[in-house]
This record gives sequence, C-alpha cells and structure tokens, in this order.
Amino acid sequence: MKNILSYTPDELKSLMASIGEPSYRASQIFSQLHKGITVAQMTNVGKVTKSKLASMVDCDLPRVKRKLVSKIDGTVKYLFELSDKNCIESVVMEYKHGHTICVSSQVGCRMGCKFCASTLAGRVRDLEAGEILGQIIAAQRDLGIRISNVVMMGIGEPLDNYDNTVKFLQLVNRDDGINIGYRHISVSTCGVVPKIYELAKLDMPITLSISLHASLDEERSEIMPVNKKWGVSELLLACRDYYNATGRRISFEYTLIEGKNDSVDKAVHLADTLNGALRTKKDTMPIHVNLIPVNEVEESGFKPTGRDSLKRFAETLENKGIRATVRRTLGSDINASCGQLRREDSKTNEDSRD
Ligand code: SAH
Repeated sequence: MKNILSYTPDELKSLMASIGEPSYRASQIFSQLHKGITVAQMTNVGKVTKSKLASMVDCDLPRVKRKLVSKIDGTVKYLFELSDKNCIESVVMEYKHGHTICVSSQVGCRMGCKFCASTLAGRVRDLEAGEILGQIIAAQRDLGIRISNVVMMGIGEPLDNYDNTVKFLQLVNRDDGINIGYRHISVSTCGVVPKIYELAKLDMPITLSISLHASLDEERSEIMPVNKKWGVSELLLACRDYYNATGRRISFEYTLIEGKNDSVDKAVHLADTLNGALRTKKDTMPIHVNLIPVNEVEESGFKPTGRDSLKRFAETLENKGIRATVRRTLGSDINASCGQLRREDSKTNEDSRD
C-alpha cells in the first residue's frame, strides 16, 4: 500500500473523491499529516472515513524501534521500522543554527562502496517519498522540535531512487507542509552522473554533496564500483554543469583511510584534479572539501587517518586554494555513521535465529 505521506494535496483530493468524501478535506488533511497528526488522531475526520483510508493507504509513521542519544553532544540516532518491518536509520544533530536530520533514501544500497556499512547486504527496496518524509515527521514528534535542515546522507543512494527523491524534495519544501527551503537541503551522491544532469535542470537550489574519496580513477574504482561506470572526469563535468545551472557551491566528501588515500601526494592530486576540472582563470568556482576520518566498519578493515596526516592533508588542499574542513564528529559514542545500527540490528536478529 502506498504511504499517505507520498500524496500531494491534489493526489489526496482524488483519493478523497474516490471514497466519496468532499475534496476540500484534502488540503486540511495534508497540513495535519505534515504537522505530525496521524489519520487516527484527526478529530475532524469521521470513523468511517478513517477506516476507508486505512484500508487503501498506509497511514503509519515510521515506528521508533531503537533510539540512541549521545551523551557527548545530544545527537539522536533512530532505527525506524517501516510498515513492512524493514528498518532504516535517521540521525538528528543539533547545531547553532538549528536541528539537522540525516535521512535514509533506500532500505540498503546497491552501490557497493567498500568502506560503507549500508551496502554490505545490498539493496532491499527503494523508499517512497512519504517514507523519507515520515522520518522527519516522526523525529519532530518524538523530540518535540522543529527540524530546519535536511541532509540525504543516510542509508541508500538518493539518485538511485531519483523519482521518489525529487518528489520528497518537492513535498518537504511546500509551505503548506514542512516548509524547509531548498537552500537548507543537501543531497549526497556517490556519483550517478546522468541524474546529476537531471537534477540540475529542475531549478531547485539544493546543495549537492559528492562522495569523492579518491581522485585517481584506478583508486576510486577500487573503493567505489560506481566509478567504473562514470569516472572522475565525467563526474566533475556533471558537477560543473550543476554549478552553472544552480549557482550552488558543491561540497566534496573525502573519507580518509589510513595508508590508502591520505598521503600528501594524494592531496596534491585531488587539488589539481578539482582545480583543473572546475576552475578556469576567469571563473573560480567555489570548491569545498569535507574531510572525514573513515569510521571503522568491521568488514572493511579500513582504519581512520591519524590527526597529523589529517592536518597535513587539509593544509595541502588549502595551499592550493581549496577550502577544506574537517567534519565535526557527532554522536561518536552511538555509532552514528551510516548504516551501522541497521547492520547491528539485523546481525542480532540473525544471531538470535541461530
Ligand atoms: N549514497 C550517498 C549517501 C549516503 S552515504 C553517497 O554516497 O553520498 C553518506 C556519506 O557517508 C558518504 O559521503 C559516504 O561516502 C560516507 N560514508 C559511508 N561509510 C562511511 C564510513 N565508514 N566512514 C566515513 N564515511 C562514510
């Protein structure tokens, strides 16, 4: 059954009409749903209508299966259970400028990045737009806060679930809904190049985050299989196009793995590659690299870079005119990195079945 949060007000109108309800009800119901009032809780909808709706559409919010709160910085990590019992993760972080949520876009992932826990068991299914949105609503309800920023950096590859991702972005932006501005939303991708071009055409000023992690094709392909399909130069051409179309700065994510991609040589190559592909003498596109020491995932055997090489790497980039920041680690005591909790949960279930 389709989730009720995936419906636009117009689609809700047709749904209401199909059960013999007046269509003016649709916009009221839409706003209530997006405020966190579930169909069951609505006082302006009769019992019969409620049961008709419940028999036609999935009216449930993601259920909190586990919730971990960091003692260090208050970061909250949810393991949400969906109506079909599949689990996904979301993380809520508090910054000076408000609350940011990191949402999942798929159950699992099929991109196969070697360092990432989300992809170890492959992709189970795509999330509907309403299931991505439901993570925000469920977290806001649970914490009693308003979320002001969204990053699509949880489990899954948003551009491998493109239509639902775009629908989600349009829904979350609506002023009769959650009303989060596009400038407060980031989409992170491992580099699904044709979809970057499509996204650029939509006229949504969303921040694009590119998970780069290596600038040499051979090395990138080794840790990120997607690079065999679309190599670094193709990816950077798409980034340039995205910037031309939207004027939005692009963020490059670079996970530092000890002894693999963290030497000064690699930093020089990264800076030269980015400058060469994205900048001309006349036109200097702002480039920002986010450095993240890799989070250890048991299966990968990768170790995080030490503080000194992290510092050296950042300095090398800065010396070549590229802004580099070291991502603040939030929720380090609660395994807040992508896919780790879902993985742990499914392992525990496997163990208990043995
Ligand atoms: N599929 C999208 C979004 C999900 S991953 C993408 O690839 O961008 C979100 C970010 O976390 C990506 O930059 C990803 O490369 C990074 N990541 C995944 N596993 C990690 C780990 N073990 N340590 C550090 N960063 C990791």
